[in-house]
Amino acid sequence: MSCDFIALATAGVRGLTPYQPGKPVDELERELGISNIIKLASNENPMGPSEAALQAIRDGVKELTRYPDGNGFVLKQALSSSLAVDLEQITLGNGSNDVLDLIARAYLAPGDEAIFSQYAFAVYPISTQAVGATAVVTPAKEYGHDLDAMAEAITSKTRVIFIANPNNPTGTWLTKEQVDGFLVKVPESVLVVLDEAYFEYVGEAEYPDGIGYLEKYPNLIVTRTFSKAYGLASLRVGYSVSSPDIANILNRVRQPFNVNSLALAAAAAAVTDEEYLQESRSHNREGMAQLVEGLSGLDLSFVPSVGNFILVNFDKDALPIFESLLKKGVIVRPVGNYGLPNALRVSVGTKSENARFLDSLAEVL
Ligand SMILES: *Cc1c(COP(=O)(O)O)cnc(C)c1O
Repeated sequence: MSCDFIALATAGVRGLTPYQPGKPVDELERELGISNIIKLASNENPMGPSEAALQAIRDGVKELTRYPDGNGFVLKQALSSSLAVDLEQITLGNGSNDVLDLIARAYLAPGDEAIFSQYAFAVYPISTQAVGATAVVTPAKEYGHDLDAMAEAITSKTRVIFIANPNNPTGTWLTKEQVDGFLVKVPESVLVVLDEAYFEYVGEAEYPDGIGYLEKYPNLIVTRTFSKAYGLASLRVGYSVSSPDIANILNRVRQPFNVNSLALAAAAAAVTDEEYLQESRSHNREGMAQLVEGLSGLDLSFVPSVGNFILVNFDKDALPIFESLLKKGVIVRPVGNYGLPNALRVSVGTKSENARFLDSLAEVL
């Protein structure tokens, strides 16, 4: 009789359901034997990376035999000057998911509570559960975070609160006034993680820049990524900005070389490529308008989004629609795992990708 290796795992890990990624293009190609597939399932930047990032990667290839700089000095310096923060406040991660995980490992243990919202980003429950902490899920308000409910859920056991602004998969966002009104209520011993993965896309005047709150609220951690507006999802690089003490702690649990050298070089080049970022933004704005117009034309309801994706509501099980779209070579994202079985999340693609999605959807419905 062999050992039960499932039972040997820690209780938290045994209870985990793995993160469900968007379906890869290659996989659908193999399954259907078709080409010409479009993927609007993972909120990737349809423009591809900036030329400056690509050149940094080509240059970096020559040094692949070396370990990367474990401190990521060049990237931290680029971030430090562009964000006007100290190097000591920055923690680099293998994607910002890595940083979220570091926060959970460093600050959550069995018996501790982490608060996040219904419909919030799927990594919060996974990171919380993996370390055996207790997830406290507050009901959403119009698909977004109900900050009053989140503040009321704080107990003496609360250690971390995760907030995505804007939120994925709903695209909802919180204003300066809402965030400020919340932070002032949170005891300083409770860490607030403001996940700003789509920060660079948001143009709303009332949208807050989390980094601006760090001085007033030292218990705040702001996370951002190069996976979305910077178009470098494959390289896995993200970061947090926090008080130096929190960064010091995160650094103790961080793998020594968690960000590879090509990612470090590409991200450092991307930070200063303001032109690319502006182009990404306007490309996204046009694509979002195209999707909104097309969806409205089909009489579909959707949640207004400030990200590079939109949650579409079908008022019936959306899985058959997802599958019919797949057969037409269009990959979008089912969100049943978020408790939204009647919705699909669609990333903004290129103009022709958006048009193809809308045409395919019209045929399917
Ligand atoms: C995409 C996303 C992330 C980060 O992804 P990484 O690729 O790991 O940087 C983090 N939070 C939210 C809400 C996201 O949608």
